[in-house]
Amino acid sequence: MEVSGSSYRVRAYSVRHEYDVTEFLEAYRSLLQSAVDEIWARIRWIEKPAEPKHGVPGVRYTARRLIPILPKDGSFKHHELREKLKEAWPHAVHYVDSAIKLAYSILRSWRRNYLKGDRGREKPRVRRRFARVKETLYVLRDGRLRITLDARERYLEFDLRNAWFWKRAKGEPGELIVREDSLILTFREICNKEEPAKRLAWDSNEASLDAFDPELGWVRVDLRGLYHIHRVYEQKRRRLQELASRKPSLRGVLGKYADRERNRVMDAAHKLTTELARRFPETEHRFERLEKGEMFNGGRAHNRRLAKADWSMVRSMLAYKAGVGEPLDPRNSTRRCSRCGGMNKAPKGAVFECGSCGLRVDRQLNAAVNLYLQMEGLPHDPRWFDRVVGGFALTGEERDGNPDEPSRGSSVVIPQSCVCRSKTT
Ligand SMILES: [Zn+2]
Repeated sequence: MEVSGSSYRVRAYSVRHEYDVTEFLEAYRSLLQSAVDEIWARIRWIEKPAEPKHGVPGVRYTARRLIPILPKDGSFKHHELREKLKEAWPHAVHYVDSAIKLAYSILRSWRRNYLKGDRGREKPRVRRRFARVKETLYVLRDGRLRITLDARERYLEFDLRNAWFWKRAKGEPGELIVREDSLILTFREICNKEEPAKRLAWDSNEASLDAFDPELGWVRVDLRGLYHIHRVYEQKRRRLQELASRKPSLRGVLGKYADRERNRVMDAAHKLTTELARRFPETEHRFERLEKGEMFNGGRAHNRRLAKADWSMVRSMLAYKAGVGEPLDPRNSTRRCSRCGGMNKAPKGAVFECGSCGLRVDRQLNAAVNLYLQMEGLPHDPRWFDRVVGGFALTGEERDGNPDEPSRGSSVVIPQSCVCRSKTT
């Protein structure tokens, strides 16, 4: 039930495990694929006239496209499909329901992308091995967790009392996700609209915005799309300026280019901030105060001005699409070691190295962790760093872009690559 004026805050935590669940997860993967296959076979395709994005008024278009309609009727979902999948599934039957729910969500996500033109008419493939565990399949009492794999036969047991998050975790435990070497727990808590569920502190760089969060890991927003637009127009202007010196009538065109550049940057920034607001619901975004100078050297003053203008555009768009909090202090965020707090020289290359504790880490991740600590009012603590940031750094799995798979635990060394990459031609 929705309580008006409030919403849910879901937090996810991960713990490593040593159970051998490969066979079980492979069976679940193929169960999930069968569910996708069965639903796919029931899709109705309706032919509709295609509406061109940039159609000319008064001109009739004859192109048609196929619109997929997913089967929705309960007798298929809850009986026919369920019975069919149950036949070949040797484990606890509630996993069949979880797979059906997940298969629908994968197909709805495919459908959205298909309608946008980002995906073709090919059936989604489930490649990664993981299983969703519904609330009915586990018991969590006083920090002890027992997950049923086979009814009354096989269980996975965890003692969470010593897990780093145990004292912090609040709210109702929700779905779990079992992976080959880790378990992801979610907790759902009702919270007020006024109070954002989550905060992200962004380190602003010329090519990216970088944030660190203990649940999400390292999140990177790719800004190269914006930068690329500036480069393209800079070259166009340069060519035109040469021509205009001989042919003054061309001068007016220069102003037109400036307008177009601004429009394209604004358009890209709109897409980017909309995507950010969607990807991080109920999140307050925090940025550094603008006068950040240490990352650029004198010769790049022009790029710096452009980057600053882009950041402030992104910030002000986010302020009404999501929420932007008090600015953070940018001083020393690139020079301080995010592990021990020691002060170092500004890093020369992409890697930050600490002279005191020997940490070697991407410079932008280092700055992002510093800003996170500042935002949360936490002290620098090597033990915290090794457990939380280091814990991420050890899992360098790749993401394959399925939005229905958990995004936690895999995103640090290879950051959640690009929240948005604005397409430019
Ligand atoms: Zn250090």
